[in-house]
Amino acid sequence: MTSSKPKVKVVVVGAGVLGLTSALLLLKANYDVTVIGKHLPGDTDADYTSSCSIANWVSTATDDEEFTQHVHKVGYRYFMELARSDESCGVHMVPHQHNVLRADGESESSFSDSSTSSSASSSSSSSSSHSSHSSDSALPVAGNSAVPWFIRQNFVEGIKFIGDGETSGYSFQTVTIEASKYLCHLKNEIERHGGVLGRRSINHINEAYYLHDSHCMADLVINCTGLASTTLGGVEDHDVIPVKTQTVWTNNTISKQISLNDPNSGGEGIYVYPRMKGGTIISGSYIRDSSSSTDQKKLSKRLIKRATRYIAELTDTKTRGNTKEICKYRQDQRFMATKANGPRVEREGTLIHNYAVCRYGFVSSIALAEKVVRLANEFVAIEHALNK
Ligand SMILES: Cc1cc2nc3c(=O)[nH]c(=O)nc-3n(C[C@H](O)[C@H](O)[C@H](O)COP(=O)(O)OP(=O)(O)OC[C@H]3O[C@@H](n4cnc5c(N)ncnc54)[C@H](O)[C@@H]3O)c2cc1C
Repeated sequence: MTSSKPKVKVVVVGAGVLGLTSALLLLKANYDVTVIGKHLPGDTDADYTSSCSIANWVSTATDDEEFTQHVHKVGYRYFMELARSDESCGVHMVPHQHNVLRADGESESSFSDSSTSSSASSSSSSSSSHSSHSSDSALPVAGNSAVPWFIRQNFVEGIKFIGDGETSGYSFQTVTIEASKYLCHLKNEIERHGGVLGRRSINHINEAYYLHDSHCMADLVINCTGLASTTLGGVEDHDVIPVKTQTVWTNNTISKQISLNDPNSGGEGIYVYPRMKGGTIISGSYIRDSSSSTDQKKLSKRLIKRATRYIAELTDTKTRGNTKEICKYRQDQRFMATKANGPRVEREGTLIHNYAVCRYGFVSSIALAEKVVRLANEFVAIEHALNK
């Protein structure tokens, strides 16, 4: 687009991390953008997934998911850079440790800091000190699961391997994002680039064409309504699957993020994330196809039991003022949108969709917004050719 032409008018529906990031990148690409949302940055609501997110960089992309790996790589680079350059955005660098119990598990041992350190590039020499090895890569394996792509490719920073005979795993440097602060940062950036945000709730996606701030009809609409894409008129995507996740908020705290893969519990993991202002969130129990808020107590109890058993630091009374038992002060169930074949980022005429990223909305937000811009540019190029 050249600046002499009138700008293409876009309405982004949805002010979650996907809508806001799409809006910001479209503004930077010289589009004229209005964002509308039932919820806006600053709100907290169970239906506004981004506002309840714990938001860290992790990736469970498999070896054959090259596009997902690319999406997660873009996110890692972007958020690590932001953490280095401007902590006021709510993005902070933290270590993450992933532990895997042996499949024959029932281990009574807990994880400690007795890490064996090495870098991925020197992994062959270091691997001899570990109890289990991947025969083809000579890297230590984490229980039944292979070392993930971002460790094998030496992609993330500060890689260390851990292993004590009963458990194995790795740690690396990642980010934690204070969701509400980061959403407000995006809002401010949108306004700084000339975008407008407004609170509006629509029943049909076609209403959005009439809601551009200029009062002119929008040329393009971007649907970033997350879970609401199942019910929003004109979208009604019945392939969106709600995923229930349980979170337990505790006063006990630890020095780093810890995730645990326990093959003895059907692969259900837990994620234990220290919060910037103290305390820890324990999350897990990702239950697909569940939009019901039942079982809260049962799921919380399961998470607390596992965290107590395997993460000694949480209940170590000698550090961080921790109590002998995990002290829960809040529990929540939240829902995320997913689709069997991954997020929907595609164009249908003048409508572009960007939703259903499940557990990776923050991680994926930049690369998916870049794709939205490419799809918008494609639309502009076609329109231009037709009008010649
Ligand atoms: C507990 C938990 C932990 C998580 N941890 C991580 C993590 O570590 N890393 C990570 O990357 N991701 C994580 N996620 C996932 C991430 O939060 C989501 O993928 C992401 O927030 C989805 O963003 P979204 O913009 O698609 O949807 P939402 O944030 O739900 O935004 C949807 C927007 O659409 C608007 N809207 C809906 N219907 C209408 C309507 N009819 N009219 C107008 N506006 C409408 C809403 O008001 C809202 O503004 C986690 C999520 C949860 C719940």
